[in-house]
Amino acid sequence: MSGAHRDLLTRAFILRKTPFKDSSFILECFSEKAGKISVIAKGIRRENNKDSGMIELLNDLEIRLTGKPESPWYILKSVNLIKSYFQEIDLNTNILMQSALETYRQLEIPREEASALYDLTIRYFDTLISTSHNGIAIFWRFLLRILRIFGIEFDLQLCVICGKSENTPAAFYPSGNGFLCSYCHQQQSGSLSIPIMPETADLLVKMKNIGNYLQEMIISPATIQEINQILFLHFSEHLHTGFHLKSLEYYRP
Ligand SMILES: [Zn+2]
Repeated sequence: MSGAHRDLLTRAFILRKTPFKDSSFILECFSEKAGKISVIAKGIRRENNKDSGMIELLNDLEIRLTGKPESPWYILKSVNLIKSYFQEIDLNTNILMQSALETYRQLEIPREEASALYDLTIRYFDTLISTSHNGIAIFWRFLLRILRIFGIEFDLQLCVICGKSENTPAAFYPSGNGFLCSYCHQQQSGSLSIPIMPETADLLVKMKNIGNYLQEMIISPATIQEINQILFLHFSEHLHTGFHLKSLEYYRP
């Protein structure tokens, strides 16, 4: 009988929890071993349930699951808290962590990439906790690393039309999945490429070594908006659907 079940022990973050029946939750989870999965947590909303306090977003959990082979659902058997990222963090750090979960809600997470993405997420959260300034730049680096894992990284200094390297990019070119030099940007009619402010271009070039600049850097709200837009457009091009992070609207530099 037991052979008919598939059991799974994995670390996971909860991406979404939806009340189900009287006392249960349906959990959308980002799991280290199986990517994105749906889990039924039976009876978890009962007052005396010892596990109910752990079923929160931003908790790094170890969950034990079972399920029938023919069902896409898993059933939660038990849960352990590895680390809670929810407590003792300021509002901006909370927003930047929520933005990571919001990103995963919009992405497919293939099983073969799940472990690398999980590691990346833990490192990202731990870095945010130890960063007092410009956490948004840590978030951009996190998104760029996701792009690399998915094989859709863009080169921040290479012009995608002429192939020349420039010190700083002049424009973003969404349909070409990259950036343009000033010459190619001028050759474009203008509607297809989006000019980048010098401050934004300078920051994009520094992104690879952003840790060295975090303390002294001042990032303007206009540049934050511009880089967010570039990244949203790039994700949208690849996902073939609008990508947007609502949580970032509450970030205050
Ligand atoms: Zn060019």
